[in-house]
Amino acid sequence: MRSHDPDHMSTVPLESFPPVDEWDDWMEYDAAAWPKKVERKYMLVPTTCFNCEAACGLMAYVDKATMQIRRLEGNPHHPGSRGKNCAKGPATINQINDPERILYPLKRAGPRGSGRFERTTWDEVLDTFAARIRSALLEDRRNEIMYHVGRPGEDGFMLNVLQSWGVDAHNSHTNVCSAAARLGYALWSGADRPSPDHENASFILLMSSHLETGHYFIPHAQRIVEGQARGAKMCVIDVRLSNTASRADWWLAPWPGTEAMLLLAFAHVILQERLYDRAFLEQQVNWREFLAAMYPDAEATFERFIEALVGHYAFATPEAAEAECGVPAATIREIGIEIGRAGHGLASHVWRNAASGNLGGWQVARCLQFLSVLTGAVGTRGGTNLNADNKFVPAPFAKPAPQNIWNELLYPLEYPLAHHELSYLLPHMLLEGRGRLDMYFTRVYNPVWTNPDGLLWEKVLLDESLIGLHAALTPVWSETAQYADYVLPMGNAAERHDLMSQETHAAKWISFRQPVLRVAHERLGKTTDLTWETNPGEVWEEDEFWIELSWRIDPDGKLGIRKHYESPYRPGKKITIDEYYRWIFENSVPGLPAEAKRHGLDPLGYMRKFGAFLVEKDAYKDPTDGFKTPSGRMEIYSKTLADWGWPSDAVPGYIKSHIHRETLDVDKGEYVLIPTFRLPTLIHTRSANAKWLYELSNTNPVWIHPEDAERIGVRTTDLIRIATRIGHFVNKVWVTEGMRPGVLACSHHLGRWRLNDTVPTDRWASAKVERLEIAPGEFRFRRVEGIRPYDSADPDSRRIWWTDGGVHQNLTFPVQPDPISGMHCWHQRVTATPAADDDQYGDVVVDTNKSMAVYREWLALTKPAPGPDGLRRPLWFARIARPTPETFTVG
Ligand code: SF4
Repeated sequence: MRSHDPDHMSTVPLESFPPVDEWDDWMEYDAAAWPKKVERKYMLVPTTCFNCEAACGLMAYVDKATMQIRRLEGNPHHPGSRGKNCAKGPATINQINDPERILYPLKRAGPRGSGRFERTTWDEVLDTFAARIRSALLEDRRNEIMYHVGRPGEDGFMLNVLQSWGVDAHNSHTNVCSAAARLGYALWSGADRPSPDHENASFILLMSSHLETGHYFIPHAQRIVEGQARGAKMCVIDVRLSNTASRADWWLAPWPGTEAMLLLAFAHVILQERLYDRAFLEQQVNWREFLAAMYPDAEATFERFIEALVGHYAFATPEAAEAECGVPAATIREIGIEIGRAGHGLASHVWRNAASGNLGGWQVARCLQFLSVLTGAVGTRGGTNLNADNKFVPAPFAKPAPQNIWNELLYPLEYPLAHHELSYLLPHMLLEGRGRLDMYFTRVYNPVWTNPDGLLWEKVLLDESLIGLHAALTPVWSETAQYADYVLPMGNAAERHDLMSQETHAAKWISFRQPVLRVAHERLGKTTDLTWETNPGEVWEEDEFWIELSWRIDPDGKLGIRKHYESPYRPGKKITIDEYYRWIFENSVPGLPAEAKRHGLDPLGYMRKFGAFLVEKDAYKDPTDGFKTPSGRMEIYSKTLADWGWPSDAVPGYIKSHIHRETLDVDKGEYVLIPTFRLPTLIHTRSANAKWLYELSNTNPVWIHPEDAERIGVRTTDLIRIATRIGHFVNKVWVTEGMRPGVLACSHHLGRWRLNDTVPTDRWASAKVERLEIAPGEFRFRRVEGIRPYDSADPDSRRIWWTDGGVHQNLTFPVQPDPISGMHCWHQRVTATPAADDDQYGDVVVDTNKSMAVYREWLALTKPAPGPDGLRRPLWFARIARPTPETFTVG
């Protein structure tokens, strides 16, 4: 198909894609009927993928004979993904048709965790929750309400809901994901993520495996490939030989936790070779503050700054880095020169990788961005933009005022600089008596499985004195949902409305997720009031759920909540979902109304038809804009860090990790375990309802170098016991030279389990386990049944051939919060031994008695608020659902 308007459409020529004017009546022969030629007619409805954060476009093919979705492909009109998807996008159809999916709202019918649920009505759910929340608001127990989100998949709707209630209730998963890297970036510029312009880069520097799994996977992967095709060189820093590393010009596998030192060595080379961008540094960096703080006696000239900078990083020679990181000095020098020569064409990104694994991981991102600053590649063509310049979040029709309350279960005093909520410490804080929750929502979130110390999550979820009512809003059964009081089925990518934008490249775009069957019915003139009427069962969409719940909390408007849900078009009436998005598209998206008009559509009609809109192309930073930091410049010296008790970390530097090799006793069989790497085919903890994905990936053996395998005495497929500070797990071994010696790795996603068959984590993916308390507070999970064929409405469930399903490692990890960023430091110091005689594949043993002790050890590393001026957090720091400025003061 061909583009209509190159300024606002992103369409790429996909020769086989149906032309737009045939989207309402597209004919294809039924492949299953071959060799007969059986015609099938489809309606094509775009939506947005919900299976990772990238928000790629999808196109649903609705069979007009059955009005069911037949399949999902890419949407070529989507500016980020341009018609391409990874395996997880088309697998949305598995999630829609999953035979074990939750189709109706369910209410607990036995003790918590008993696995007994019964069907209830949406009305009962809404009335129960509304009464409970209303009481908490009226009795000023506002901090007893909490909304805890795993995958957001939208930009701001829920923040507005919570702020309209006047609560400080938003909790996220970010501190087990990206918070450390975000802090490293934010300290430089106020913007917390990079947006590399891979397709125009001359040098691509990646920490992690962006071609296969990295942040904004498919949008980035295609642009990295294009950049390489245009001659860009690529260096991948990853302790594991990922598929991405195998496509790189250089694969560097430094000792885990030393990555910041490696990056500083590149900086050292750039400074020594005078390859830095002098004008950028002089005009955009707070070098005067650096000099004043670090060299107070020095003359305040730029020349003196450069001398000071060279002197400050004199320690980071390639030779010193070789000794520390294990990467040859000559290679470091060679790459440092390449980076320097790339200048404004240096595109770089860190995603999870070293930033999320290590004590001080935030300095990895800070040091990576240091290279962009030195080369002047910030916001340039082929360089690395700030996310703020490539993400577009349109304003809704009404924005609630900030809440005038601070919830210390989210941002405790010990972590004044944490980039996000201390979400994974919630059980520890509840068990310490820091508060209780009366109404707790988990939403597309599976903390029992995902977070470290999952058994402490189980403990508090089972305790009604700590959590009064727990509602799990989820499209799929999970290890967490089984402990809830209510399990509420929420829509997949083709069953809900959301609006998203991501900083995937040098542009700004929005993407519309929509309930495909509702839209398809509307095209045929059949309108519905609520989305669940056209979804499978009574699967609802959250926007409508939250609107209805908010209305019931404040039916007469006296709490000041209802007004936020009154229609901007029909005063006093409850807003409809069409009106909510219609207002945004008519009023908040520059260029959209005019473009819609050119197509003979209104703005909502345009988004319903095309699913995405390119707001701005070639979006690069305006160098005269400045930066959102106290100095207005990029801050090589962070006065904030110094003022809040961390003066020696105020400039980009190297912090030795908690798994630094000095801490390991190799003779005792100690290793570093890298537990963070992701598989391109799985969706954190939402793959279990996607049969195609589990057929592709269904085991997560421990990667181990041949030298280590020999030392331990194991071979591929042998069982190995990996022991952490609070427990151990037993897994198979995969011996590979793609692993750095001395380091082990085990992928995320796998090892799903179920305790029973009544509320199962889907059987495509989960092993049935017996959970036994083998000593007070010490638990053993042992498989009683692997993955095997079963009867269901889907005949494929009888064709399951895989049995492993992988091993759940996260249960055995204690919490390890970085004292500055608050990020959980995922890497583990472990011992590795051949499995004992009575060990079985999949065994997981955890001693919860040890959990709190490790938590307190890490807590002792912090420097609690108040900081300067009695603040609990620097005022210039961003905060999710930011409360009023007054709440930032302690007391
Ligand atoms: S990268 Fe894959 S899972 Fe993520 S949004 Fe795109 S298609 Fe979906």
